[in-house]
Amino acid sequence: MPTQDPIEALAAVRHEFGEHGGVNMSIETSATYTVLDPATMPDIFSGRAGPETGGCYLYGRHFNPTVYQLGRQLAALEGTEAAYCSASGMGAISAVIFALCGAGDHVVAGNAIYGGTWALLNDFMPAKTGVTTSFVDAHDSAAVRDAITDKTRLIYVESLSNPTLRIADIPSLAAVAREAGIPLVVDNTFAPMVLSPTRLGADIVVHSLTKFIGGASDLIGGAVCASRDFIGQLMDLHTGPLMILGPTMDPRVAAAISLRLPHLALRMAAHGERCLLLAQRAQALGVAVTYPGLESHPDHTLARALKHPELGFGGLLTIDAGSAERAAALVETLQNDEDFGYIAVSLGYFDTLMSCSASSTSSEMPDDALAAAAIGPGLVRLAIGYTGSAEQRWRQLENALRRCGLARPG
Ligand SMILES: *Cc1c(COP(=O)(O)O)cnc(C)c1O
Repeated sequence: MPTQDPIEALAAVRHEFGEHGGVNMSIETSATYTVLDPATMPDIFSGRAGPETGGCYLYGRHFNPTVYQLGRQLAALEGTEAAYCSASGMGAISAVIFALCGAGDHVVAGNAIYGGTWALLNDFMPAKTGVTTSFVDAHDSAAVRDAITDKTRLIYVESLSNPTLRIADIPSLAAVAREAGIPLVVDNTFAPMVLSPTRLGADIVVHSLTKFIGGASDLIGGAVCASRDFIGQLMDLHTGPLMILGPTMDPRVAAAISLRLPHLALRMAAHGERCLLLAQRAQALGVAVTYPGLESHPDHTLARALKHPELGFGGLLTIDAGSAERAAALVETLQNDEDFGYIAVSLGYFDTLMSCSASSTSSEMPDDALAAAAIGPGLVRLAIGYTGSAEQRWRQLENALRRCGLARPG
């Protein structure tokens, strides 16, 4: 198992210089490539002669050197043999499910997952492919094991669950998956660099690059990090879902995201530091705040054991305001009176983004699924940015908490 530190691994990726010697790589904007010798075309088409095996690139939906370089960086980040990018996180997640499952197969998934993934597994896949999913509490290894049938093709969890901020016990889940002979797939969107699922035993990592990795809420992208063999399967000319369904990343997007990876660790550390300070101070006022960095968090010890030692506990915290009305009042006060952040879905932005999960990013889930996942109506998710000063942001948050009656009087 590769044990290298993600920060060191990323810095060790071969540097691509620009065509004219620029410090940054050039963007390959071609959708197709010139074959110099027509006799090599069959080998290029079959994949026997690629750009690194005597042939050349073929067509932009298959491989593009700029997108390929971002894939190399992401493979280093997650410590996998290979990685490839997609047009969105959902493009990456659905490609992995399609690659691993045939008609009538089965998935075991955590019950606190991104609403879009939940809809893919709960609604789309059964309707279109007959693939069904059992949603279980991923913190209960026995429940995960019991849900596995002879049709189960993967276990799917989020490293840091959305929006409940539970930490997946990846080593335990990996043991369950190994015992069953199926891969453990982990969505690491919420905790890039902070958690390294494949270094902890997972087989496949998926990312939405739209969040922390992109970092500016201006680009949509996704990635799959896995073995060379599995990435090859995703790109197969006949049955590869990334190749056939075509959620291809634009090379301009790949170049932009590639330039943000060098400061991902700095940003994750800054998000984590700010989040911990606000969570500790809010908790001291009696606010019902959830953050993995707080000792009161049910997974605090596990988080400490699994996370990167230098990068904090991630950039999200939640506040339970008690009711949907109080949650709405809190985010409105924070945005419109205090300028603390914006009411918007998504996360990983430099400014703070706030949403009421039950009525936004998890609204695909019906009430019983929300209850099973412990997503209460008053749950406010705060994706904490790092702009402004810590004291300025705390003043704004404290004012809003007091004004909304969520803090102990004082
Ligand atoms: C946003 C998100 C996705 C989907 O990613 P897109 O880039 O929007 O397709 C998947 N998983 C998690 C945890 C997310 O937050």
